[in-house]
Amino acid sequence: MTTTLADCRARDAQDPLRALRDLFTLPEGVVYLDGNSLGPLPRATPERVAQVVREEWGQGLIRSWNTAGWFEQPRRQGDRIATLIGAEPGEVVATDSTSINLFKVLSAALASVAADAPARRTVLSERSNFPTDLYIAESLCRDRGFRLVLLEEDEIPHALRDDTAVLMLTHVNYRTGAMHDMAALTARAHAAGALVVWDLAHSAGAVEVDLTRADADYAVGCGYKYLNGGPGAPAFAWVHPRHADRFWQPLAGWWGHAQPFAFTPDYQPAPGSARYLCGTQGILGLAALECGLDTVLAAEPLGGMPALRRKSLALTDLFIALVEERCAGHGLDLATPREHARRGSQVCLTRNDGAYAIVQALIARGVIGDFRAGRPDILRFGCTPLYLRFEDVWHAVEQLRLVLVEEEWRRPEFHQAQAVT
Ligand SMILES: *Cc1c(COP(=O)(O)O)cnc(C)c1O
Repeated sequence: MTTTLADCRARDAQDPLRALRDLFTLPEGVVYLDGNSLGPLPRATPERVAQVVREEWGQGLIRSWNTAGWFEQPRRQGDRIATLIGAEPGEVVATDSTSINLFKVLSAALASVAADAPARRTVLSERSNFPTDLYIAESLCRDRGFRLVLLEEDEIPHALRDDTAVLMLTHVNYRTGAMHDMAALTARAHAAGALVVWDLAHSAGAVEVDLTRADADYAVGCGYKYLNGGPGAPAFAWVHPRHADRFWQPLAGWWGHAQPFAFTPDYQPAPGSARYLCGTQGILGLAALECGLDTVLAAEPLGGMPALRRKSLALTDLFIALVEERCAGHGLDLATPREHARRGSQVCLTRNDGAYAIVQALIARGVIGDFRAGRPDILRFGCTPLYLRFEDVWHAVEQLRLVLVEEEWRRPEFHQAQAVT
């Protein structure tokens, strides 16, 4: 039985999360399928940021560190992120970028292994991991005398051995949307005596995560993807309490000091995750992140992350079914796992040629997804349940069909390379 636009509209009418879309300012005539790369603008953000600038900064001046709670912001927003990833209050800080936080937690993990099990000299990761994660690991391994080994997904379990120091993985793959079994891999790594660092960039706010139940060691994640914090928003870092007080992180700045306003000449790390703060935090960015988190936490009374996850799977299931019904015979293959337990919140398609131009032609038609180069090239469509409607998925696939049927993507203007893809 084929799916019609009317079917999709009927599903939207019954969607318990449908009101959340109103929390965003989405441009007219756009179907936004790139919330996995940059979440859209929450309706509340412009006024809130303007208020922080005009009132808290303009009128409150330096007093606002206390009176407006600026100093507490990284921890306060960290506590709110904690509820989305199965962490406890006080365990997460919102700060810096994902790359920098990964540097800090991986460094602490390596220091911990160097102290407890100095014979373990190998860091394992996945070849298809997001490059910045691999570059940060490469640089730390060079610096500390560890060896970075890159694996294919199916090689990971067998590669965990008595020389493994750390397994560093991204939970949901940025290219394919494939999701690892966090609890199973963490248990396997621990059984081999290794620590595990998880990158939640494509997980936080998109899929259910329970770091505590998985017994993970360290985690980082991104503020500007599914958390809608705006371009370059503060990211986050989590450390399991069993490790938090044992090691310094390498960027020992004054905000991570136990008593920053004692101004002592020597460093005394703050207890717990607070030591993962370095210097003075970007308060404007934290204000925007707060508004982004408001949009995700607005789902709490409607079922929270489990409800968002249910809708996300329904949207990606629909996307896959419609592509197979309506775009068959056009050389598209599915790169995202069909199995729910292995799928994040995006649908990735591959095609031997023209993937870049197809994405450009879709953008010209108001359907914003993105392209990721590789072998094969990928067309990537993020499905964010906070604002995406079933009807939007129908329109997106219909535009994709038209671009393919009319071979619109062959037009030269869709082949011009842009600086950011
Ligand atoms: C998006 C993403 C990042 C981004 O890192 P930045 O420091 O914000 O540039 C890092 N790692 C993964 C896996 C990502 O998906």
